Amino acid sequence: MTRRFQNLIDGKWVDARSGKTFENRNPAHWDEVVGTFPRSGKEDVDEAVKAAKAAFEKWRLVPAPKRGDILRRVGDLMVARKEELARQMTREMGKVLTETRGDVQEGIDTAYYASSEGRRLFGHTVPSELPDKFNMAMRVPIGVAGIVTPWNFPMAIPTWKIFPALLCGNTVVFKPASDTPATATSLVEILMEAGIPEGVVNIVHGGGGDVGIAIVNHPDVDLISFTGSTSVGKRISEAAASTLKRVSLELGGKNAQIVMDDADLDLALEGVLWGAFGTTGQRCTATSRLILHEKVHDRFLSMLVERAGRLRLGDGLIEGVDVGPCVNEGQQKTVQEYVEVGLNEGARLVLGGKVPRTGGLEKGWFHEPTVFADVKPEHRIAREEIFGPVLSVIKIRTLDEAVTVLNNTIYGLSSSIYTASVNNAFHAIRDIKAGITYINAPTIGAEAHMPFGGVKQTGNGHREGGWTVYDFFSEWKTVYIDYSGGLQRAQIDNYDM
Ligand code: NAP
Ligand code: MG
Repeated sequence: MTRRFQNLIDGKWVDARSGKTFENRNPAHWDEVVGTFPRSGKEDVDEAVKAAKAAFEKWRLVPAPKRGDILRRVGDLMVARKEELARQMTREMGKVLTETRGDVQEGIDTAYYASSEGRRLFGHTVPSELPDKFNMAMRVPIGVAGIVTPWNFPMAIPTWKIFPALLCGNTVVFKPASDTPATATSLVEILMEAGIPEGVVNIVHGGGGDVGIAIVNHPDVDLISFTGSTSVGKRISEAAASTLKRVSLELGGKNAQIVMDDADLDLALEGVLWGAFGTTGQRCTATSRLILHEKVHDRFLSMLVERAGRLRLGDGLIEGVDVGPCVNEGQQKTVQEYVEVGLNEGARLVLGGKVPRTGGLEKGWFHEPTVFADVKPEHRIAREEIFGPVLSVIKIRTLDEAVTVLNNTIYGLSSSIYTASVNNAFHAIRDIKAGITYINAPTIGAEAHMPFGGVKQTGNGHREGGWTVYDFFSEWKTVYIDYSGGLQRAQIDNYDM
């Protein structure tokens, strides 16, 4: 029997008001239904926001260390269920089990980090310019947080947002991606089991154009934390402008790995295989371009084609599979279209390029790992996000040229350079325009306690992860305490002239 999932509103599991539902299917076997979910609308969002707004008045007064205690229990429950959560995630979105385990682990790390932050949430005490006066700036909760997330990290990304939001004393209305509603539901179940009070976390399933935008437009939602595509991010930014609510946007990427002539080529090869084809290339930090120094170009390209050609495509639950399917039909079509674009632009297809039609892959949204050589920096496949297992290889002559090519995109999320030279490394760190730069490591590999985010059209200047995310989910309140017993006028009484 297919499990029927529900929304959680004010501590109660309920269907959409309309009674409508949608299905989620396994992308490796599209005839397998993972579950049915409420196809919610604005009226369901209204209820959830009402509950979150009411719950905020109590939750904001719970001491932060106590909120942290609940999040520690959340982490403990995730540890206990790691395998079960990972298997559910692979079934609903396709990436291989080692990666879904990593996704859950990132959530666990984020839970324990958030839990400990309950005993910090540091403010500042600052000397006053006047005698007998005390100045401080402290963090206060904001209100109702609207959380809208993508499908490619169905556990990690929601935890990056929901845990710090809660720790700071906000309440949550959560709309997960329509491709990964089961994993999202498991997270919310764990939060409730750990002791989050009713109404503090609400989940509303449904489409972005219905539920997502209703959350963004709602006047009682005080902030939006969104991760997804740049095009939807722009729409959210425009919609949020009417209420001037706080918005954090983590958007697309077109990440590159540079390999210099002095690099350890075996190491660089492991890096690019993992960076380009891990999660079937469907990571915001995926390596989508490989920028090769001319002196190592031909040798490295043949090493790459040989190894990438041996990657095993299949159901991510099967031991030994390296690359899972695309998440859905639309994503598979996008990849196919970009293969056409690459061929029409004159790039040389050196590996893959096809949808497999045999070997038990017929009923999944698979696409072969694909490599294009002779790609020019101005080609679309060198500049646009593809979000699939397609790698564009570009030849360069100098480090300066490599960095110029790397920067030639509207995005600026992750970047990588393989080199043995400390001078090359530091020049790259200085000149690459990206939120993240790896030296002798692939473009993927973010750690939960470090700032995460990008520049240019990858975002709007906020950072998730680490200590920096707490700036987004809390408001600074500046407090002056005058214990002089008289009126003291700043800038006036303390200066003679
Ligand atoms: P998406 O299509 O932009 O969707 C993201 C979320 O927004 C989903 O929950 C979606 O709902 C919802 N949504 C869609 N249209 C909306 C609208 N008009 N108003 C409000 N919400 C709306 O992105 P995706 O395909 O899930 O994820 C892939 C993209 O995310 C890529 O561009 C990738 O680079 C980016 N990403 C960025 C980061 C980062 O940290 N920078 C991390 C991961 C992914 P539905 O699912 O119901 O459509
Ligand atoms: Mg699915």
